Amino acid sequence: MNLHEYQGKEILNSFGVRIQRGIVAQTPEEAVAAAKKLTEDTGTGWHVIKAQVHAGGRGKGGGVKLAKNLDEVKSIADQIIGMDLVTPQTSAEGKRVHQVLVAEDVYYPGDNEPEEYYMSVLLNRGTGRNMIMYSTEGGMDIETVAEETPHLIFHEEIDPATGLLPFQARKIAFNLGLSGGAFKEMTKFVYALYTAFEKSDSSLFEINPVLKTSDDKIMAVDAKVSLDDNALYRHKDYAAMRDVREENPVEVEAGEKGLNYVDLDGNVGCMVNGAGLAMATMDLIKQAGGEPANFLDVGGTADAERVEAAFQLILKDPAVKAILVNIFGGIVRCDRVAQGIVDAYKNMGTISVPIIVRLQGTNADIAKELIDSSGLDVQSAIEFQEAADKVQAVLA
Ligand code: GDP
Ligand code: MN
Repeated sequence: MNLHEYQGKEILNSFGVRIQRGIVAQTPEEAVAAAKKLTEDTGTGWHVIKAQVHAGGRGKGGGVKLAKNLDEVKSIADQIIGMDLVTPQTSAEGKRVHQVLVAEDVYYPGDNEPEEYYMSVLLNRGTGRNMIMYSTEGGMDIETVAEETPHLIFHEEIDPATGLLPFQARKIAFNLGLSGGAFKEMTKFVYALYTAFEKSDSSLFEINPVLKTSDDKIMAVDAKVSLDDNALYRHKDYAAMRDVREENPVEVEAGEKGLNYVDLDGNVGCMVNGAGLAMATMDLIKQAGGEPANFLDVGGTADAERVEAAFQLILKDPAVKAILVNIFGGIVRCDRVAQGIVDAYKNMGTISVPIIVRLQGTNADIAKELIDSSGLDVQSAIEFQEAADKVQAVLA
């Protein structure tokens, strides 16, 4: 589950990671009140107004702006709230901004050399260990840094048996070219950041930029935090941070219906039971010259209701040119699934794209018979290859 910047910073702050202080606002009036409060608390005169959407690159898209007085806070907030923010990480339509973070300006006026670093914490799947990835090239798109100056990106792997060791935090501060007070501050920052990552059961932290101010404070100016969904049950307060407005509406609807659905870019919709078979089916579609339009695992009980819900989800995607149903009847008998498909089809009236159904397992032959004699525009198959050939034929 992805979080907004302001929520990620709340979590960081709760573990002692220094952050750029801010208050979230839903309206320009709230933004002004937030700015006044921040001035009282921190003495800041200038504020940054930051669009809160689940996408990076907001600065480039005009979603991060500096306000030098309360009038500017109001007019900038007014401009950003409600806009469709387009960034290098959004679609061309952009993302609607519902709220802004009003934050203290931490790039002091007259401070000519604020240093910006990049730091992330994530799992290295190759070694099965968490790692801290960091770079002197902060504030930039890290993919560009990786491409053009890969020697400026460093990695530090953490042994799960010992956790982050003090020498590792010092090594990071050293590689970032720090000394004196800033060096000490950075080791504390790294330590707190890693602790926050572990304790919050996160799967990704990306802090870009980490800022060093001219008075040697180290703080997180931005925060991208992804939590591990499978650990949310032990963080009820984090689970409540979910903002479904930021998620794909079809995926949210699927979740409510207990279907495991991931939207993809292709032209063949697939309905499968079991994640492994779903992956294999996506390979099959590719081999037949198509591209999967989605990943959809309907789970163990493929009854008429679930099948119909699944068809409806798949058909919301206008790119879908064919649907491949690939169900293994183990727990549920194939003839029951076939009946479910026939019932769902009849219930929905007409389905405008060809459907290929492959049922294998208990009573597969009865199921095929049921589909073939239904009089509906549905093709049946029992073998994998047969299904692939039929998909190929309808796409041709
Ligand atoms: P992103 O574009 O979505 O990654 O959003 P960031 O939070 O990283 O902000 C973008 C850029 O805005 C940063 O790289 C900073 O250079 C700048 N910025 C962020 N906070 C401040 C601030 O307090 N003062 C000033 N002057 N610039 C800031
Ligand atoms: Mn950033």
